[in-house]
Amino acid sequence: MEEANIQDVVEVAEIGLIGEIIEMNKDVASIQVYEETTGVSPGEPVVSTGAPLSVELGPGLIGQIYDGIQRPLDDLAEGGDFLERGVSADAIDHQKKWDFEARVKPGDEVVGGDIIGVVQETEVIEHRIMVPPRLSGTITKIESGAFTVVDTVAQLEDSQGKVHDLKMSQRWPVRTPRPVEKKKDPIRPLVTGQRIIDTFFPVAKGGTAAIPGPFGSGKTVIQHQLAKWADAEVIIYVGCGERGNEMTEVLNEFPEIIDPNTGKSLMQKVVLIANTSNMPVAAREASIYTGITLAEYYRDMGYSVAMMADSTSRWAEALREMSGRLEEMPGDEGYPAYLASRIASFYERCGIVDCLGTDDREGSLTAIGAVSPPGGDMSEPVTQSTLRITKVYWGLDYDLSYARHFPAINWLKSYSLYQESMDDYFNKNIAEDFSRLRIQAMALLTEEDSLNEIVRLVGIDSLSAQDQLKLFTAKSLREDFLQQNAFDDIDTYCSAEKQYYMLKTILFFHDLANEALDHGVYLKEIETMNVRPRVTRMRYIAEDDLDQVKNLAQEMKEEFAALTAAREVEDA
Ligand code: ADP
Ligand code: MG
Repeated sequence: MEEANIQDVVEVAEIGLIGEIIEMNKDVASIQVYEETTGVSPGEPVVSTGAPLSVELGPGLIGQIYDGIQRPLDDLAEGGDFLERGVSADAIDHQKKWDFEARVKPGDEVVGGDIIGVVQETEVIEHRIMVPPRLSGTITKIESGAFTVVDTVAQLEDSQGKVHDLKMSQRWPVRTPRPVEKKKDPIRPLVTGQRIIDTFFPVAKGGTAAIPGPFGSGKTVIQHQLAKWADAEVIIYVGCGERGNEMTEVLNEFPEIIDPNTGKSLMQKVVLIANTSNMPVAAREASIYTGITLAEYYRDMGYSVAMMADSTSRWAEALREMSGRLEEMPGDEGYPAYLASRIASFYERCGIVDCLGTDDREGSLTAIGAVSPPGGDMSEPVTQSTLRITKVYWGLDYDLSYARHFPAINWLKSYSLYQESMDDYFNKNIAEDFSRLRIQAMALLTEEDSLNEIVRLVGIDSLSAQDQLKLFTAKSLREDFLQQNAFDDIDTYCSAEKQYYMLKTILFFHDLANEALDHGVYLKEIETMNVRPRVTRMRYIAEDDLDQVKNLAQEMKEEFAALTAAREVEDA
């Protein structure tokens, strides 16, 4: 094995199991085999492919479902088992002909990242064929027409006079980040249609977010919600070490979803990677890299890409298992000492960037990782290493999910370090008082917590009417705004505009109620006003009927005016 290199992909045994060399000691190689190794016996051959673990990139990726090392899993949807061992199928169809439309002509100078042509990959994705990153020179031949991904569509002569065949597909090693021109500061939110996220803890396009939470607290549901509704142009969804039926659910559900951003089926912009708990543990580690490499590839085309990984803890556990087998020095809780740097280098592949190439293309890659701390213990190494690097923390709370408050994101503990720049965006694009309302709402929710402490000690009657109103409004914020039912056809998605009007309505009620209290109206009268049930039902008003939410303000004003007038007459 002396000529082999660490990270080379090898084929093990007659049946050709796929593995990766993870350690070399003179001519002894340790190989991580990505499949079940039962039946492999001494004396069987091991052949190195001489190349690191890589993925095939080109038109035909969208709409596919792959395992952790990019083998197509076509029959997963039928509830069938995964691939037979040792099968190496092409990741993208090599027979299918695509209509290639050339965008450069012979004689043009091009550099890595330049778009030489496009292919309509799905109804919503124009696949941009790029010069591979490290290549540059003069186009000597190019033609539009129908080609397969392995046909030569163009030729390029580099400065040494060497001619390169350009195809629509290229390979890329998954553990190497794809290069970009320059990283920039995130300034736009990834609008997810989830109220607590967009309004209170927004993630930027190009940002990173973590969702730690105990079993059953709603991590998977949130990841599904983000995949369905986030305004990213491409979605890469990685199911890593979690239940297989959840991926089957995704497969059945996603094609039916109409993406509010494109008006087309969601599957027109999604790639799925499944390495569920019933599949070999080893490929779990690779699946995260396969996912992020596909994501980077679409980012390079100039798209906003979002990747969900559920769960990164299973990936870290695979890392721990490999490290244990190699008898490396264990760190915290048996995880290898390099755990934190592995997690960091994964999230560092995110960002909003100027794409490689001569034109001004901007692409973004956002990653959202679920973390499953055993027993919900947040001090464990995977959670801690993740929180050190991700800029948004959506902390799921067992108590909230137990009380069926969903999404069970704890509003007092969660945070977003993008808040300030996202405020600018929302104030400019949705309404100028967006951030003011958010701050007012959060202040009420925070105050609720301390007022409840007093109530527990001395009872509700010890509070002033104004403080009791604060509790009333905070409850309304929790139940009518923060709670969002993922399984309700309307409530499942809420545009940023609707979020704004809902919040504004709840807080406008609060302000009017405060004035009414000053005029001697009783809190009891306020709590039972006719308009209250309509506030509660705002969540279920369709986006098309947003006027019904907007009109509530006027109705409230009138009802409050009547209440106050009646009180004044009585007092007189
Ligand atoms: P986890 O992945 O953290 O183990 P799940 O995402 O599978 O938890 O959620 C567990 C259950 O909680 C779901 O099956 C669902 O019944 C409920 N749930 C979670 N989030 C929501 C939500 N937003 N709306 C309604 N129900 C939810
Ligand atoms: Mg889950």
